Amino acid sequence: MGPKRIVARCLMKTKSGGPMKQVEMHRSGRIGWLRAAVLGSDDAIVSTASLMIGVAASSASKAAILVAGVAGLVAGSMSMAVGEFVSVSSQRDSERADIEREKRELADQPQSELQELAMIYVKRGLEEGLAMKVAEQLSARDRLGAHMLDELGIRQTSLARPMQAAWISAASFGCFAVVPIAALLLAPAALRIPAIAALSLVSLAALGGFGGHIGGASVGRAALRVTLGGALAMAVTALIGRILGVSVG
Ligand SMILES: [Zn+2]
Repeated sequence: MGPKRIVARCLMKTKSGGPMKQVEMHRSGRIGWLRAAVLGSDDAIVSTASLMIGVAASSASKAAILVAGVAGLVAGSMSMAVGEFVSVSSQRDSERADIEREKRELADQPQSELQELAMIYVKRGLEEGLAMKVAEQLSARDRLGAHMLDELGIRQTSLARPMQAAWISAASFGCFAVVPIAALLLAPAALRIPAIAALSLVSLAALGGFGGHIGGASVGRAALRVTLGGALAMAVTALIGRILGVSVG
């Protein structure tokens, strides 16, 4: 990006409510919970559908398949919530420790911290005098914020939120685990397995494409990857269900 565009961007960002500012804030603020939601949804469809298909392939009754699906929904939601909570909590702890250390350093040695910030801008390509000016002006406005962003890479608006990640992934798991359960309830007895598989794979393709879209990746490739993965999981559990159904039942 040329210097003119950088200046233009900075101007747009400092003017309150400029269009650039809004777009950027939305993107960085949303990506965390959208990631959790998409992961929870994919996981819900693959694991619940596979579980139900595995049970169905053992020639179990509709009631037994339904119980398996609902148990899978509840267990999966809880396990997603716990897993996300633990992983995002540890991320938050390390962010907090970094911020605390930065606060102490800013209090104890403000001058060398200012130098440090200026050096970061020198490394990015500013000349020393300008880098110092930038460091001073950013520090005058929000000293800790400037160090967090440019030294630690932590944005105030995108700090890790464990509770949010936990309930979003649990809720999205719960919602999308309903897809294979609905297929079971709607399909005639002879078509249970194909109906569960088909509705689940179509939903996975749509979710995969959406995930690729928000991540800025190829929609087709993302959809194909998650659909193939899901199909493989269902095929394997169907096979195992069939073998167990024959040998145990
Ligand atoms: Zn610092």
